[in-house]
Amino acid sequence: MRADRGVALGPSITDGPAAVPRGRSVRVLVIEDEERLARLIERVLTDERYEVEVALDGARGLARALTGDYDLLILDVMLPGIDGVEICRTLRGRGISTAILMLTARDGVDDRVIGLDAGADDYLIKPFAFAELLARLRALTRRRLDPPESSQLQVEDLVLDLVRHEARRGGRLIELTAREFALLEFLMRHPGQVLTRNQILDNVWNFDADLASNVVDTYVHYLREKIDRHEQSRLIRTVRGVGYAIGR
Ligand code: CA
Repeated sequence: MRADRGVALGPSITDGPAAVPRGRSVRVLVIEDEERLARLIERVLTDERYEVEVALDGARGLARALTGDYDLLILDVMLPGIDGVEICRTLRGRGISTAILMLTARDGVDDRVIGLDAGADDYLIKPFAFAELLARLRALTRRRLDPPESSQLQVEDLVLDLVRHEARRGGRLIELTAREFALLEFLMRHPGQVLTRNQILDNVWNFDADLASNVVDTYVHYLREKIDRHEQSRLIRTVRGVGYAIGR
């Protein structure tokens, strides 16, 4: 049998740049109760030079994750006992900032939103190709190891200057209101990452999400008119049923 249940082995597992930067081993904790899948992930990641540990239930997984000894967490949502969302919420509540990639069911749109709102950094829908899993982990690792400290954020040809408070696309100056700027900054601080409306509301508006759930859509629309409308490549993506992302 070529593929385990719930997993499609992609053809390009060993393609692409090395997963782990030289001289630094990235520690990954896999919390997944489906043992065959967990072991398969362990094997593939070990081949890619990650340092991998596996926890087969939520309680053990949470206990280990609480040590904060890991760079990345691969967390299944559906776990007996303590589920993935609760684990995520608990870790963030205790100040553990380990990057979290959630594994969710195909139709679990709500799982994805709830997971991201609980503090997950990204999610992957089962069944997934390992090439996709590795790509997500590389992106999360890059973000963790090289947090943007500069006064400029850049996504493709869009540059946000945080000191001058200026946005430029391909050199063209874009006039933004303070709220539009704050929204764009939040999106650009998480390039390629899907952000839910609630995450955006909490970070850009700081008021109760229930008050105006469509305010985010309205402002994303304003931003698109200004940065994407006349361009070949559209930078702001809508992820149906989940939220928004900027860049790939
Ligand atoms: Ca499961």
